[in-house]
Amino acid sequence: MDNMELKPVKGLEEYARKQFTHNHFIYYSRKGAYAECHCAECGKRYVLRAIETEDPFKDMALDIEKPQRDMPTVCRECKIKAIYKPAKHTKSEYSFGRVCVGQKIDDERFVFRIYYVTQQTRQGQDTYYSSTEDHRIFLEKGQKPSRYDNYGTKWHQSCVGENWYYIVFPKTYKEIAKTGMFKHVPVVPSIMNHWRDDCGLIYYYIAAARYPDFEMIIKIGLTEYADNLVRKIPVNPNPRGKKVEDRLRINKDRLKSLIEQKGDKKTLELYQLERRLKAHWTEEELEIIKALKEATYSTDWEKASKALKYISPVRMRNYMKKQKMWMPGEKATWQERNRRQDLRREYYDYISMRINEGYDMTSDVILFPSDFRRRRDEMILMVEKAKMDKRKTEVLERFPKIKTKYKKLSEKYSAAAGGYIIRPAKDAAEIVEEGRILHHCVGGDGYLRSHNDGRSFILFLREMNKKDIPFITVEIRDKEIIQWYGAYDQKPKAKLINAWLKTYTKELSKRKRETKTITAKPKAAKTA
Ligand SMILES: [Zn+2]
Repeated sequence: MDNMELKPVKGLEEYARKQFTHNHFIYYSRKGAYAECHCAECGKRYVLRAIETEDPFKDMALDIEKPQRDMPTVCRECKIKAIYKPAKHTKSEYSFGRVCVGQKIDDERFVFRIYYVTQQTRQGQDTYYSSTEDHRIFLEKGQKPSRYDNYGTKWHQSCVGENWYYIVFPKTYKEIAKTGMFKHVPVVPSIMNHWRDDCGLIYYYIAAARYPDFEMIIKIGLTEYADNLVRKIPVNPNPRGKKVEDRLRINKDRLKSLIEQKGDKKTLELYQLERRLKAHWTEEELEIIKALKEATYSTDWEKASKALKYISPVRMRNYMKKQKMWMPGEKATWQERNRRQDLRREYYDYISMRINEGYDMTSDVILFPSDFRRRRDEMILMVEKAKMDKRKTEVLERFPKIKTKYKKLSEKYSAAAGGYIIRPAKDAAEIVEEGRILHHCVGGDGYLRSHNDGRSFILFLREMNKKDIPFITVEIRDKEIIQWYGAYDQKPKAKLINAWLKTYTKELSKRKRETKTITAKPKAAKTA
């Protein structure tokens, strides 16, 4: 909903002013037998005189109050409750607050307007008040709220929720009662005040507007569920559901039991899983799932629930018992508990890998292997290899010049000395493989592109008697080494390698000159 012109709020300034009850001051200056008073609220000034006891007939109507710092009193002019402050030696004070005003727009639209109100006191001066409307939250039936912030001359859409303390302008409640979409929504203080005082009001009616069945949910007793909706705790409602069980995403026969538990989140999630798996669990099965879920990290539960798509709860439990990874008894140590939890996680991993790789998930051989950890490790290697093969095919296609340049580059850069050899990469796939084995980033697009375009080249430095085993990867530009690394970005035998590379680059410069002279000679020979 777009921001729009709204009706002015009558009585807001006056109401806001009343909220600063602690800082209504009357400044006084005592001067012997009398005191001059100045009410900072109404701005009036008056004088208090001490009663002259010697002459009881004079000044009979005058005051007996003797102003003192922080003494409570009432303004003689405007009757406001206030406290005395000396006209000099009083610190200035600045206070602020927020007032929330609710307005009906029509039966299916409502707006909360937040006013930022301030009070500034300065010694001996009238108190200054200000109020600015700085936030608007528009509610519309069946919609998410739209929020706007005041940027002085313009309102900008905002994505921040209301996370501050506010006082509710009393007329707001009447406006809520007048609005069709809220008229029959029961007021549940335990939900509304969940956050602090009645600052849950906005959240409450955001939920009431957004979920058209909010009223019914509360009336049938799903108060915890309603509370979660208000507090934006994910409970995965289906806004398009026609019936209540569809909106809750549970089987119809679970509704009664869910209501008995007021819509408890854990129970709801179990029932939602049951429906998602198109299952109808028996009590025994439900207990198994409940026990499993309670003993599983929520981050693993997604995989676990995928496994349950193919494995019935009873078979899952039996297999886990056989594999000694079912939840241990009460007396088990926490180490044993953790060990079994880790095993279960590995099993869920194993199953989800099988699913992803398209295996036949009806086969017991696949579902219940005698050593699922070994099968899992095999799968990991297989999946990784498939990924690598794909990457290699891809880079060979994308960076073909690495291969075509090899011969020329080899002439320029290949060398052997002191038990080491160095040579350029033969093709893009070889660079990817080098990076994989040495666990560094040379297989990334950046180095490949650079080599392909001739900006810098990747060379492999290896031990002479282990020519096929990656050892050091070198990046070179012309005859200058840019960087070199071994496995895991380490620099093994750094001193030796640095020295070796130094000699190597020196040799390269020489070789360059020689090649030039060599290429010049045949030319001369030809012409001769
Ligand atoms: Zn006054």
